[in-house]
Amino acid sequence: MDYQWYPGHMTKARRMMEEDIRLVDLVIELTDARVPAAGRNPDIDAMAGGKARLILLNKADLADPAANEAWLAYFKRKGFNAALIDARKRDFVRTVEAEIQKACREKIERDLRRGIKNRPVRAMVAGIPNVGKSTFINSFAGKGAAKTGNKPGVTKGKQWIRLNKNVELLDTPGILWPKFDDPLVGRNLAAIGSIRDEILDMGELAVFLISFLIREYPGELEQRYQVSIPVCSGDALPAGEAAAFLKAAAIARKCLKKGGEPDLERAARLLMDDFRSGRLGRISLEKYPPGD
Ligand code: GDP
Repeated sequence: MDYQWYPGHMTKARRMMEEDIRLVDLVIELTDARVPAAGRNPDIDAMAGGKARLILLNKADLADPAANEAWLAYFKRKGFNAALIDARKRDFVRTVEAEIQKACREKIERDLRRGIKNRPVRAMVAGIPNVGKSTFINSFAGKGAAKTGNKPGVTKGKQWIRLNKNVELLDTPGILWPKFDDPLVGRNLAAIGSIRDEILDMGELAVFLISFLIREYPGELEQRYQVSIPVCSGDALPAGEAAAFLKAAAIARKCLKKGGEPDLERAARLLMDDFRSGRLGRISLEKYPPGD
């Protein structure tokens, strides 16, 4: 599979990110808890420069709880402020507010030393497409949040959302482009739905996902489709077994073509949809953070 990203979009996205980063004290970076590494763009480290940082592992409700904890600990070990969230639910607000204060402690203390009191932290949200940026901003802002914009000389046409007396959020998120030089990263991003499905071979993608699930989450797969899976050994992903599983699942789910043949394309879509919506259970595609 070949995943193209358009250089034109990339250049524009980068320029806009760089412009916005200049205006803020804090960059709130969203990644997908199911693929915390693939869901990031490493260029953000250079772009965010000396700004305070907060990494939010979003869609944590869909990811494996054990993997969530391992990744949270990993980012903390790396010196980031980090939290696990479900951007659709407002219960993250208190946690995120506390993390913002922690991330910006130095700035707040510096302000105080200079006699500046209560200057709100300015923050922006950034992340790859579909990671949940708009959902996060809407939930965080809630109904009561006031929009403030066009502060002369400061924000030049940018809209800010006043979250509370301590924090102002840029209302348009920064769009980061995924990096998929590594084909596995591309596949993982395709599996979570970050790449338009129209350009993907769903059958191939489903076989890739099933191969992974056979190795890492066999129970979830068997339970959902009531199809037994072969035991696999060795390191390679069991593509042959995965293709056979897809066929059996198509039959079990009655995805059949007119002549009674299993409709693999439809079964593949169903399976991808089951995975993306969490019906297969809580699954992380990047289960283990790199050893450091
Ligand atoms: P954006 O492109 O980064 O702004 O992403 P959106 O905010 O449009 O979200 C993309 C999709 O992910 C939407 O269908 C959201 O409802 C869904 N979504 C966002 N955050 C979460 C989350 O924490 N959990 C789950 N299950 N879905 C989420």
